[in-house]
Amino acid sequence: MIITIDGPSGVGKSTVTKALAARLGFEYLDTGATYRAVALAALRRGAALDDAAAVEAALAGLRVELLPGRVLLNGEDVSAGIRAPAVSQGASKVAVMAAVRRFLVGVQRAAASGRNMVCEGRDQGTVVFPDAACKFFLVADARVRAERRAAELLAKGTTASVEDVLADQLERDRRDAERDLAPMVPAADAVVVDTTHLTTDQVIATLEHAVRSCPTDRTS
Ligand code: C5P
Repeated sequence: MIITIDGPSGVGKSTVTKALAARLGFEYLDTGATYRAVALAALRRGAALDDAAAVEAALAGLRVELLPGRVLLNGEDVSAGIRAPAVSQGASKVAVMAAVRRFLVGVQRAAASGRNMVCEGRDQGTVVFPDAACKFFLVADARVRAERRAAELLAKGTTASVEDVLADQLERDRRDAERDLAPMVPAADAVVVDTTHLTTDQVIATLEHAVRSCPTDRTS
């Protein structure tokens, strides 16, 4: 059974996805990590991230594997490296490219095949798993999202101003929402949850309640 959670950057998808998966006894899939891995691979080759031919060349022979909480690039654990700010912006640049999306949709479907999984990203409910049993799209006020992310970064020892985080998120969200291929939009059958005034626990409880009343005969 597949559950999808889509939404913009900083909305809390990762935390909620992991917690929901744990409560249900499911695995989870962080599909943003796959776009980040491709961006990192292209950057390492010195490719300009707006050059589709150069990025496509970087896909040749590339192996992206998702393990619980880790992403491997040709066998190398790049889980930390893909979180660098340049890679975040780079991921949303390579994510507009058809060859990249085709390649990663294949990786994501293969990773979820035959499993019970909570899959998070931007296009999970619309493109990758259109028959998912239960779909969510999380939204929250942009400033609240930026404040949450800045607090998260601070907890990890990195100081970032809310204004800088906000600018970075708005730029990525615009690119993700406006692209032609698999734009970030809620699936027609997704439950849209506004988390602006909810605690993380309230969001998780809302989703868990919805999943437990989901039809289970839709598989993907
Ligand atoms: O979720 P995360 O911030 O790690 O995603 C990084 C970037 O990867 C996003 O800004 C988006 O451009 C891209 N992405 C995507 N489709 C997904 C997941 C991520 O286009 N399913």
